[in-house]
Amino acid sequence: MDDRLHTQSHTFRTSVLSGISLFLTILALFLAIFHFVYQNEYWLALGECILSIYSGFIYTKIKQGRYSRTSVLYYAYYLIFIFGIGNYLEPISQGLFVWSCFAPITLYLLLGIRHGMYATGVFLIAQFILVAIKFSHNQTYDILSLMFNLTLCYCGIWVISHLYESNRYHTENSLLYLASRDSLTGTHNRLSLATFFSHFTQKKNDKEQLCLLILDIDFFKQINDQFGHDVGDKVLIEISLLISRIVGDNNLFRIGGEEFCVTLCDKDINEARHIGEKLCNSVGDHIFNVGNNNLHLTLSIGICQYRDGDNLSDILKLADIELYKAKQNGRNQVKICQMPYEIHQEKQSDSV
Ligand code: GH3
Ligand code: MG
Ligand code: MG
Repeated sequence: MDDRLHTQSHTFRTSVLSGISLFLTILALFLAIFHFVYQNEYWLALGECILSIYSGFIYTKIKQGRYSRTSVLYYAYYLIFIFGIGNYLEPISQGLFVWSCFAPITLYLLLGIRHGMYATGVFLIAQFILVAIKFSHNQTYDILSLMFNLTLCYCGIWVISHLYESNRYHTENSLLYLASRDSLTGTHNRLSLATFFSHFTQKKNDKEQLCLLILDIDFFKQINDQFGHDVGDKVLIEISLLISRIVGDNNLFRIGGEEFCVTLCDKDINEARHIGEKLCNSVGDHIFNVGNNNLHLTLSIGICQYRDGDNLSDILKLADIELYKAKQNGRNQVKICQMPYEIHQEKQSDSV
């Protein structure tokens, strides 16, 4: 199922990091050869050689998908350090310090708002002290106005980078919220359930358990027919609040018109049945005040437990079978999937 929205920032940063590391692997290698062979600047060449190897290492890690946020952080600070050495060793007339203005954009792209801001600040202090020292030995320039202009330019780009990154961050969060929530009840939606399930199956260890409950309101159509669609909508909102108070907002998903799904991690099937009964009782005992009407409603629930290799549609199908049984059996009750493991597996292979 679609997981793209949840990894957009990560994908974006990965492609930026991949481009920068590949570019620096090649550039630093050329510079190292140039400084070693033509200018006999051995220390600088050594630093560039290390930068090239380190960048190549980071690039390979990205391609293998095996890099952490901490390794990106180290890499960014290493870039700051190596740029500082370059600035210090190279003659000021070569204008290497001009590239400082790239730092805020690059650091925000690589590290995000918080770490990007810290790293940009560190860069500003470190580089500008070095540049000031270099200029102070050079009488040709008016050091005060030069440093003033450079700092102003750097801070201007810093502010723009910060605004851009925080705006991108908030936009992404709003999009993520809209894409993962149901617009009527505010609960998580089916896409969110698919994302939760794929994270669960990827990260679960042997001991972790998961039970899925499908909840369906009994005779809900009658509410709409009798009192109108608006009243039906209000009831749906109220019922979702009741359920989320018991299972928590993060475990509740609206997967159809008046159908909800509840995920219970680290609960076995008997505990899940117990929670299912609690939900039935809570909704059954509740009086829905809609306008001048006091309504009583009930829930039917089907439960299925996750077993290794299950996919989401299989578990939902099995829980739905139990829900159907609960409806057939008179509604307002919980039914659990009691199937032995082998039959459970067979059922899945039939459904493929
Ligand atoms: P059962 O006990 O067998 O589940 O009966 P039911 O009437 O609840 O089941 P049925 O599936 O026949 O009806 C579901 C109704 O839910 C049909 C539809 O009008 C209503 N519904 C679906 N989505 C919404 C919604 O967003 N708002 C409102 N008000 N009603 C909705
Ligand atoms: Mg239904
Ligand atoms: Mg129903």
